[in-house]
Amino acid sequence: MKMEDDMLESVLWMAHEIQARVAELGRAISNDFDGRSFVVLGVATGAFMFVADLVRHISLPLQVDFVRVQSYGNNTKTSGVATIGTDCKIDLKDKHVIVVEDIIDTGITLAKLVNHLESKGATSVSVCVLLDKVFRRVVPLKLSGSGKCYVGFECPDYFVVGYGMDFAERFRSLPCIGVLKPEVYQQ
Ligand code: 5GP
Ligand code: MG
Ligand code: MG
Repeated sequence: MKMEDDMLESVLWMAHEIQARVAELGRAISNDFDGRSFVVLGVATGAFMFVADLVRHISLPLQVDFVRVQSYGNNTKTSGVATIGTDCKIDLKDKHVIVVEDIIDTGITLAKLVNHLESKGATSVSVCVLLDKVFRRVVPLKLSGSGKCYVGFECPDYFVVGYGMDFAERFRSLPCIGVLKPEVYQQ
């Protein structure tokens, strides 16, 4: 039990539920990408835990790298503008890329990133998101050619933390995903 658990109003997914779903996603990717050379590209910082768990369930050789995408806004809302902060160091030309992201909300971050990766000459760009806030989408996720989309869970319209996801850089190390008590935002 972590002390930060006390600051959750509710738990949406417990650690064992997340682990079971991540294992399924890993198996699906293992089936789809068999025989291909591919890169798992995490979006830092939120996806660090998801990437670490997911790759252990992919039974194929792969490369891992991270990018940073800045979205200027306050702590619980995106601003509508995303820019690539730190780019990956692996050359993605002629590689299959699977972008691993904690959550897709408006879709602005992933649209920007997919576009960027395609312009770097990736053979295909796929996306694996743990959570999808389907009803909040502003920009549709468009994947060209053989790009695939994997989703862990549909997420209700709450600001969630844990399993890599933060509020003001806190709560990332929680093994579950939950909603914060309102007083935490007022601190
Ligand atoms: P989008 O560009 O799709 O609107 O937002 C994507 C980014 O906003 C996510 O990668 C994530 O960093 C952040 N985000 C969106 N919803 C949540 C949420 O409920 N909790 C946390 N911690 N971050 C979120
Ligand atoms: Mg993110
Ligand atoms: Mg954040």
